[in-house]
Amino acid sequence: MTAAAETQADLLVSGAEALGIRLTEAQARQFVRYYAELARWNERVNLTAITEWEAVQSRHFLDSISAALALPAETLQAGSFIDVGSGGGFPGIPMKLAFPGMRCTLLDSTAKKTAFLAHLRDALELQDISVRTGRAETLARALDMREQFDVAFARAVAEVAALAELTLPFARVGGLVVMHKKADAAAEIERAQGAIETLGGCLREVIPVTLPKLEDRALVVLEKRRPTHERYPRRPGMPSKRPLT
Ligand code: SAH
Repeated sequence: MTAAAETQADLLVSGAEALGIRLTEAQARQFVRYYAELARWNERVNLTAITEWEAVQSRHFLDSISAALALPAETLQAGSFIDVGSGGGFPGIPMKLAFPGMRCTLLDSTAKKTAFLAHLRDALELQDISVRTGRAETLARALDMREQFDVAFARAVAEVAALAELTLPFARVGGLVVMHKKADAAAEIERAQGAIETLGGCLREVIPVTLPKLEDRALVVLEKRRPTHERYPRRPGMPSKRPLT
C-alpha cells in the first residue's frame, strides 16, 4: 500500500457517485481502513487474489456496492441482508459501509475468514453486524436465519442454480436475492429457471452494470414469492454437486 492510498479513494468516491451513491469523507476513510486490514490479513489468510489499491476499489468495493441498483430505498436505509459465502467481506462489508443503517449478517464456512470478518467489525466499530461460521445449507435451517432477510447476497460462490438453493431459503417472502455475476450470465440463468421456481422464487430482472476499470457486470435479481419447501436446501455439497433442474 502506498502513502497516497492511505488518504485517497478517488476512484471509489467518483465511481460510487456514478452509481448514485454519495460517500462522505468518513465513509471513504473506513474503506481505506478496510483495505489496510484486508492487505494485512491476506498475508496469512487467503482472502483475495486482488491486492492492488486501484483494483480493490473497482473489483471489490464498487462491484459490491453496485448491488444498491437492485434495492428499494427503504431497504438501503434500514433493511436487513445476509451475505452468503462472504469470504473477505464481499459484497457485505462494502454495502454495510455505504449503507450503515442496514442490518448485516455475514456467513462463511471457513473459520479463518469469519475470524477476519469479526476482526473487521471490531476494528471499524461497526454496529448491527452478525458474523456466522458454517455452511449455508446448514444455517438456512436455523430458525433465526431462515426466511429472515430482506435481501440475500452472493458473489463468486457458485452457479446461479446452486446459488439459488443457497440463498433463497434465507430471503423472506417478498424479499430479494441479488447475485453479482459477469455480464454474460444468460446461459447460467437459463439453466437455473427450474431451480428458482422450485425454491419459491422468480427471476425479477438482470441489471447490467458498468464500472470504471472493470469489464461489464450484471446483477441477477430474484424475488422470493413463496416459502421455500422444508426439503431445501439439501445436505451440504448437494446444491453445487447436483444443481436442481
Ligand atoms: N463473496 C466473496 C468470496 C467468494 S469465494 C467474494 O466475492 O470475494 C467463495 C466463498 O464462499 C469462500 O470464502 C467459501 O468459504 C464460501 N463458501 C462456499 N460454499 C459455501 C457454503 N455452502 N456455505 C458457506 N460458505 C460457502
